[in-house]
Amino acid sequence: MSTIQELLKESTLDKADAKVLLAHLIHQHLNWPKSALISRDTDALPKALLDEWTLLEKQRTEGHPVAYLIGKKEFFNIELKVAPGVLIPRPETELLVELTIDRIQSSGKKTPKILDLGTGSGAIGLALAKNIPNSQITCVDVSAEALKIAQENARLLNLNSVKFLQSNWFDGLIGLTTNLPAEECVFDVIVSNPPYIPAGDHHLSMGDLRFEPSSALTDDHDGLMAYRAIFKEAPAYLAEDGFILVEHGFDQSKQVCQLLQEQNYINIKAHQDLAGIWRVASANRAASVKLG
Ligand code: GLN
Repeated sequence: MSTIQELLKESTLDKADAKVLLAHLIHQHLNWPKSALISRDTDALPKALLDEWTLLEKQRTEGHPVAYLIGKKEFFNIELKVAPGVLIPRPETELLVELTIDRIQSSGKKTPKILDLGTGSGAIGLALAKNIPNSQITCVDVSAEALKIAQENARLLNLNSVKFLQSNWFDGLIGLTTNLPAEECVFDVIVSNPPYIPAGDHHLSMGDLRFEPSSALTDDHDGLMAYRAIFKEAPAYLAEDGFILVEHGFDQSKQVCQLLQEQNYINIKAHQDLAGIWRVASANRAASVKLG
């Protein structure tokens, strides 16, 4: 017979991780709330729960991310289902969501059309859909596995008007494999948290990243390939006063702003996250753009 108190005391896991895993198990097996970690910490736990705890504890010790083990992650003010086919949403990405909401509010747009490129679990697009009334959101990802999870998240969050398309950046939006009619391919905002870690970067073999899809983390090049592709094509898909916001790596602000400049964007701005790291670049489309 083991109790919550004993499991926590005996576990070699980080205490915060152990509590999250246990909170998940007591909810799954006993429908107990998180507060039972304290209020029922001397109750005997059932064998099925203890067996699963042993398994989760082992997997966590091997490095499996907590979010994959419990199958979910909080992001902004929503909860997302996550699995090894998608990047685990990061707190720093909330900056991109916040900045987008602010910009849309100050633009006064009533029904803003937003494109989330490389949506993964749907984190950015769905957080925007949840927090911007009457927004029209399209989320794309090249991975069918990611899209399946993102769509499931939309369903779980009751965000049924969000559209999902399988596409490599803009490639599948319009054209022969058209999923959207041409007039629906003009957006007020384009957002993206693309893979930006350079090939061979030591972070890729550390922590959670070892278990996340490599295609969501790295471009297998210099970390800037996605920005080159997106910035080149985005103007053709942006409304005249449209703007773009992208997340980038901790040391990429200068290079990403430079790439925006090379493609003639205007009002290029760099933004710091809560940790004081330059994390997001934003810009407006140039006033005149050769379309098509
Ligand atoms: N923010 C992630 C990390 O550095 C990387 C995500 C990405 O490449 N977009 O852990």
